[in-house]
Amino acid sequence: TAPAAFLEVDGIEAVYGNAILALRDVSLSLGAGEIVALLGANGAGKTTTLRAISNLLGAQRGSLRRGHVRWQGEATARLDPASLVRRGLVQVLEGRHVFGQLTVETNLEIGGYLRRPSRAQLARDLERIYAWFPRLRERRHTRAGLTSGGEQQMVAIGRALMTRPKLLLLDEPSMGLAPRVVAEIFESLARLNREEGLSLLIAEQSAHLVLEHAHRAVVLENGRVVATGNGRDLSASGRLDALYLGEP
Ligand code: ATP
Repeated sequence: TAPAAFLEVDGIEAVYGNAILALRDVSLSLGAGEIVALLGANGAGKTTTLRAISNLLGAQRGSLRRGHVRWQGEATARLDPASLVRRGLVQVLEGRHVFGQLTVETNLEIGGYLRRPSRAQLARDLERIYAWFPRLRERRHTRAGLTSGGEQQMVAIGRALMTRPKLLLLDEPSMGLAPRVVAEIFESLARLNREEGLSLLIAEQSAHLVLEHAHRAVVLENGRVVATGNGRDLSASGRLDALYLGEP
């Protein structure tokens, strides 16, 4: 039999409260080592899809009404966030959420604690993050709240990487950042993918930059998948016309 997909989202319908139908029918899969872009306009259902995958809907009074999500063969709905992180499925929340009063380095260390590392391990892991994001080394003793938006996004990603994920879910990592900074962040993520096999599911409203790196994209509209394919296929189909493409 074929190996189960790394991540499998199968026909999910998601609601908030009893009234708001956020996802009508979303299916997607992601194989080990893949970069998949989840595209769609504001309100299309990208964030809800990520929440459904990482079992965070409940915190928003949301729930899955139909379908299922499986991570390495296990239903994520039965796993709490900490268990998911231990199994290598980690979400970087929209809007960065760094601890502004703490230094960049302390923010990163917090990501590592779940694994109860020794001091030597922690130091090695920090070195790894600084190798991927050299800017964070320069800013290591600065309070995170005083760093730039791009640096805060790197802190949020670095903190997630400290847990040693297999799959990273990113929610609009480009939000509010200059294209040059977004390009730098995507470059680092693409290198992590190439050199360490990290899988990525990246929700984005601005499609252009993420499509340069994604192996595949899934386009959502009104809580439904309306197209899948690589960047070239999707451009040709005109499915991206309604989305913000950023600077060419
Ligand atoms: P955005 O770019 O705004 O994050 P999105 O594609 O991620 O858009 P979702 O945030 O998943 O879209 O929203 C899908 C639908 O669910 C929208 O109609 C939205 O208003 C609704 N929704 C999202 N979060 C909540 C919530 N916490 N409570 C109620 N409704 C919500």
